[in-house]
Amino acid sequence: YAKKKQGTAIQFFNSALLKAFKDDAQIERDLHAAIRGRQFELYYQPLKDLQSCSYIGAEALIRWHHPKRGVLYPGAFIDIAEQSGLINAIGTWVLEAACRQLNLWQHHNINIAMHVNVSARQFFGSNLYEQVWQLLNRYRLKPGTLILEITETELMEDIRYATNLCQELADLGVGLAIDDFGTGYSSMRYLKQFPISKLKIDRSFISDLSISRESREIVSAIIAMAKALNISLTAEGVETAEQERFLTSCMCHQAQGFLYSPALREAEFSAFLQQSQPALLH
Ligand code: C2E
Ligand code: MG
Ligand code: MG
Ligand code: MG
Repeated sequence: YAKKKQGTAIQFFNSALLKAFKDDAQIERDLHAAIRGRQFELYYQPLKDLQSCSYIGAEALIRWHHPKRGVLYPGAFIDIAEQSGLINAIGTWVLEAACRQLNLWQHHNINIAMHVNVSARQFFGSNLYEQVWQLLNRYRLKPGTLILEITETELMEDIRYATNLCQELADLGVGLAIDDFGTGYSSMRYLKQFPISKLKIDRSFISDLSISRESREIVSAIIAMAKALNISLTAEGVETAEQERFLTSCMCHQAQGFLYSPALREAEFSAFLQQSQPALLH
């Protein structure tokens, strides 16, 4: 009986694994078509300044309009794109689309910063510096308005290279934000070495604020540290007014989360800004 049961378990495991493998292979094939067929779209999530209570930024978040599966979130395909190398083509498209949109906003006097997620392969692999340089020139973007987001674990992959590239990007007027801060293995030592302009406290700390004294201590310590180092700070995943009140009391700079808005298509994002702060638009 035990043997039979074990056999079934193995069989089940194998078929589940095989299915996952086939799904991934299918996603990878579909990604090729998606890149050629313009099936991606950037959505924008607003970032709120907690002192002025106005929206001062947007994070570009990719969505895939899959012809059969409907709208896919990055969790369903970014890892596969990363492993297969397709992330370079996708990342190039994302940067282009985000800069084109930022140019349009600036043209309409919408003065907000654009945050763009960059994967490790994109950061270390290709010609990120040249790409960014060309885009800044092509779209005449105001200095300080483009901010690249990368996770601390990714940055640590090659510290010397990362330090140089960050410095070169900073010299171009491009900001660098550490995404999901607190979840990777970072070293406090590098915070002073890297020309980092911003930390984004990971959502897991924020969602625990009301139930965990430890999370409150950690968050207020990160905020104090960022302040002392003159690094700006965004809390990710803010969902309740109570969380916002705590962050405001700790003098956290900015917040982002469903309390304000999820990521929106461009037209809806513009409408959201107009509605929440009419003065921002001419
Ligand atoms: P991230 O950079 O940490 O982005 C924040 C994620 O949290 C987004 O998920 C956003 O929709 C979600 N979020 C925002 N506020 C809340 C909240 O209040 N509650 C909850 N539960 N979630 C919230 P999304 O859009 O699914 O993206 C997931 C991740 O995929 C991103 O995490 C980012 O690492 C990656 N990603 C997204 N777009 C791109 C891209 O264009 N390029 C690359 N390389 N990665 C991307
Ligand atoms: Mg991000
Ligand atoms: Mg990220
Ligand atoms: Mg994050």
